[in-house]
Amino acid sequence: MVILYMKIDILTVFPKMFQGSFTESLIGKATKNSILQIKVTDIRSFSKDKHKKVDDKPFGGGVGMVLKPEPLYDAIKSLGVKKKNSSYKNFYAKPFVIYMSPQGKTLNNVLIKKLSKFKHLIFVCGHYEGIDERIINYVDEEISIGDYVLTGGEIPTMVVVDSIARMLPGVVKEESSVENDSFYNGFLDYPHYTRPAVFRGHKVPDVLLSGDHKKIDLWRKNEAYERTKKRRPDLLKRFRSSIKPEGR
Ligand code: SAM
Repeated sequence: MVILYMKIDILTVFPKMFQGSFTESLIGKATKNSILQIKVTDIRSFSKDKHKKVDDKPFGGGVGMVLKPEPLYDAIKSLGVKKKNSSYKNFYAKPFVIYMSPQGKTLNNVLIKKLSKFKHLIFVCGHYEGIDERIINYVDEEISIGDYVLTGGEIPTMVVVDSIARMLPGVVKEESSVENDSFYNGFLDYPHYTRPAVFRGHKVPDVLLSGDHKKIDLWRKNEAYERTKKRRPDLLKRFRSSIKPEGR
């Protein structure tokens, strides 16, 4: 029996941008198998303007356009949101509203793990100069995918949805593959090799051809540790401090 683990609603003024990204590969399979349900809604369909206008000039002057609050509020309300979700513990009770914003909490695997527990997520994609600030009253978390600015929240939403989907049971066939991935346990992943054993003079490490699974496991753990130490020592520091006994 297939279980629906998560419902995702995406509010955007450019719904066509999502064509393809959720119908291919593992996400496509997950939506086909109903593990994940993704619905993309055009914010314009909530505009009461006869030209379906959803943006306007900023108060106080200046360049650019701002997404108007009324269609966005009506779109969010239509999904059953009345007020803010007060905590990350209400996975089942209420939908969790996320506004993708360069000013939000920076995305990382800890946040993805937390979000993957929810039953219903709503993503608001901004565009132009962003959304009218008063909509933040109905947003539970603002999330940034990094310290740079994109034209809209659509690509950032795809990034978050894709990484959340990998955490849902049944999306990635071997769950241990997700657990070995970079960041899951505080380390970067170990290096991977496939056939041929020698490629243009570059050999696969002997241990991987030895058939000794204990040795292979140990080698992989060690490689993951050494890579993390060399490339991302900050991750090791964070991991160590998270396992420090209290009061030390
Ligand atoms: N004026 C805004 C600022 O400087 O904070 C940037 C607006 S940006 C051009 C338009 C939209 O793209 C934003 O409302 C947001 O939804 C999305 N966006 C841009 N960069 C992003 C990032 N790094 N992470 C998440 N969303 C982003």
